[in-house]
Amino acid sequence: MGAYYDEIEIEDMAWDEEKGVFHYPCPCGDRFEISRGQLANYEDIATCPSCSLIIRVIYDPLDFEDEPPDDDEDVTALEEEQDDDKSDSDEEATFKDAMDRLRISEEPRLVIATA
Ligand SMILES: [Zn+2]
Repeated sequence: MGAYYDEIEIEDMAWDEEKGVFHYPCPCGDRFEISRGQLANYEDIATCPSCSLIIRVIYDPLDFEDEPPDDDEDVTALEEEQDDDKSDSDEEATFKDAMDRLRISEEPRLVIATA
């Protein structure tokens, strides 16, 4: 995006115990705010309630991972899906080979009849 007013490290922000938010002075006179829950939810945009400016908060999400998120946003785990399309022809050839081998190895066997 690159539309941030500024990028601020979390160490440079102040902690508001009462509201449970980190804040940083906004040029409009108000202040940017971001909650611990937002940080835990990998959000890094602090907003100013009085104007449209936003800042990007530089922080380590691992420092906040124990914090319960303060909204119900679905954080779906990235599931690595195996791409089995790429070797289709190869697999088919391998399959035919296997079938050939299977046929070759289909030698008559002595079947011992168990009476
Ligand atoms: Zn502002």
